[in-house]
Amino acid sequence: MALLVTVELTVNTPKISSKNVSSLLGNIKNVEISSHVPLKYVGRWQIGGPADVVVEPLDARAVSEVLKCLGAEKVPFLVIGDGTNLLFDDAGFRGVVLRIGRRMSQIAINGTHVVAQAGIWTPVFARKVGCAGLTGAEHTVGIPGTLGGLVVMNGGSQRKGIGSNLVSATVVDIDGKVNILDRNACEFSYRKSNLQRPDLVLLEAAFEFSTANKADVRRRMIEIMVSRRKKFPLRLPNCGSVFLSDPKMYDVVGPPGKAIEDAGLRGRRIGGAQIAPGHGNFIVNLGGATSSDVLGLIDLIRRTIFERSGFLMDCEVRHVRPDGLLQPAHLSVQSGKWN
Ligand SMILES: Cc1cc2nc3c(=O)[nH]c(=O)nc-3n(C[C@H](O)[C@H](O)[C@H](O)COP(=O)(O)OP(=O)(O)OC[C@H]3O[C@@H](n4cnc5c(N)ncnc54)[C@H](O)[C@@H]3O)c2cc1C
Repeated sequence: MALLVTVELTVNTPKISSKNVSSLLGNIKNVEISSHVPLKYVGRWQIGGPADVVVEPLDARAVSEVLKCLGAEKVPFLVIGDGTNLLFDDAGFRGVVLRIGRRMSQIAINGTHVVAQAGIWTPVFARKVGCAGLTGAEHTVGIPGTLGGLVVMNGGSQRKGIGSNLVSATVVDIDGKVNILDRNACEFSYRKSNLQRPDLVLLEAAFEFSTANKADVRRRMIEIMVSRRKKFPLRLPNCGSVFLSDPKMYDVVGPPGKAIEDAGLRGRRIGGAQIAPGHGNFIVNLGGATSSDVLGLIDLIRRTIFERSGFLMDCEVRHVRPDGLLQPAHLSVQSGKWN
């Protein structure tokens, strides 16, 4: 069972330059195009300057056509879901943000087999799987963002990653060609996958879950939600856990949040950004925070924890540079010392 309509693309894409990218993509059916979009209205941190163009394709064919067009003309582009794991730069992004969102959010459940489009909101996906009497997706119920972002990041909670239940991922490449990758080809590991590539868009994914009692699944989801609400500062704009947990460091000093708290860094501020007083591994936007403020706090945390414990923590959160390069945020810190 697949949701995707696989298409052989025969569209003759005209030549474009980044100057007229907006009008050229306008020739493609089923895309929504906006120009000069402040990225602070796109990402969860509510930080970031303008992107030249934001394009939201409404179906798989449109994604292929847009990619082909951008690829042929070498227009810089960046694929995003809901921006819940991204730090956009104060300078914005000189290129095209390709957003796979709610318009591509169909889901089909057949027995224990589930196929969903990349744009479905993860908590909705988890609830639909649970309501079908299936277990295995409960750990994702409180994770904001799209299923596409979740799969690409191999996201999860309760020490799980969504990759364990994935059977195949349907992707489209820069030539507009659709490919189906099995789980092995996706190379999932802790918060990593082979899908973290700038030239690949995830269209949909297929999963296998196990049958379970619906009421038990529901109860488990509620427990997870209650525990997350207590643990995480959800009131102010943030991007979830900033640093990855390193198993070696975990054994010696604990998870990043504890290490940051033990170092007395909770509540520290740079400009409008603050290390959350309630959770050391969250950085919140108190209002008017800039990407430099956040990168400054990341640098401060990394240096302090390294000096105290000898462990250099890496970021889960990814920084979008103005040229479109997407990298773990610690690689962008200003001091240069830690790059
Ligand atoms: C309050 C809060 C709590 C969080 N808790 C958790 C948690 O418990 N566990 C966890 O794992 N994460 C957590 N996160 C982080 C984040 O929610 C997840 O990583 C989420 O799955 C990202 O989805 P997104 O759609 O927002 O992706 P984005 O942030 O938009 O993108 C993330 C990455 O995926 C890529 N991407 C997105 N969609 C596609 C696509 N269709 N095709 C190709 N590439 C794509 C982007 O290029 C980028 O590299 C939390 C975030 C917040 C704000």
